[in-house]
Amino acid sequence: MSLYRDTGVVLRVHKLGEADRIITLITRRHGKVRAAARGVRRTKSRFGARLEPFGHVDVQFYTGRTLDVVTQVQTVDAFGMTIVGDYPRYTAGCAVLETADRLAVEEGEPALRLYLLVAGALRALATSQRDPSLVLDAFLLRAMAFAGWAPAILECARCADPGPHRAFSVPAGGAVCARCRPAGSASPSGETINLLAALLDGDWPAAEQTGATARRDASGLVAALLQWHLERQLRSLPLVERRPSVPSP
Ligand SMILES: [Zn+2]
Repeated sequence: MSLYRDTGVVLRVHKLGEADRIITLITRRHGKVRAAARGVRRTKSRFGARLEPFGHVDVQFYTGRTLDVVTQVQTVDAFGMTIVGDYPRYTAGCAVLETADRLAVEEGEPALRLYLLVAGALRALATSQRDPSLVLDAFLLRAMAFAGWAPAILECARCADPGPHRAFSVPAGGAVCARCRPAGSASPSGETINLLAALLDGDWPAAEQTGATARRDASGLVAALLQWHLERQLRSLPLVERRPSVPSP
């Protein structure tokens, strides 16, 4: 029996038969891991509530034939206890978990940066007074950078001309100068652009000085960027899956 240990955050849980569950985690060393947890739905389960979404846990697995199996769980941080009780923090936290699940495409592919971003965002949601929507947007911008989708904020996305620029185009990849600006670009305020830069850099004092309008506009741009990239990722998947069947020359 081959055993391994890792620390991770529970992203998703679903039922497997009467008493078992399949747990999806983002882990420090093994990237995304899906594993079976036997007997978790019995009232006297030795895993208790530790294997719930938002749980930051240290887990021992053994390598199964089709699915790895959880054999031991220790709680590192019970983020769920505080996040679940506060609706804005809970919805921001759910978006963190769902985005991490979609960005970690390949199971077992190391994703240390993404794991650290998830654990950091949940810690901020659970233990700090920061605006949950700013915590979420900072996470989403940095998670996009992890995926290779970092938006241009202070330079032009097309010609790299230093800004700040007053036009923003989601398909172009961020801020665009007056010459490169495609039709249909948004025109966010300077405060909104500065907020996006502060969130990507982790400059919390600057981010927290911004007003409600800039925060709302920045959230809208971040959500539009993420949605655009995720839709392109979905469209490119059939091509990736077809690749192994192409005969090598
Ligand atoms: Zn340009």
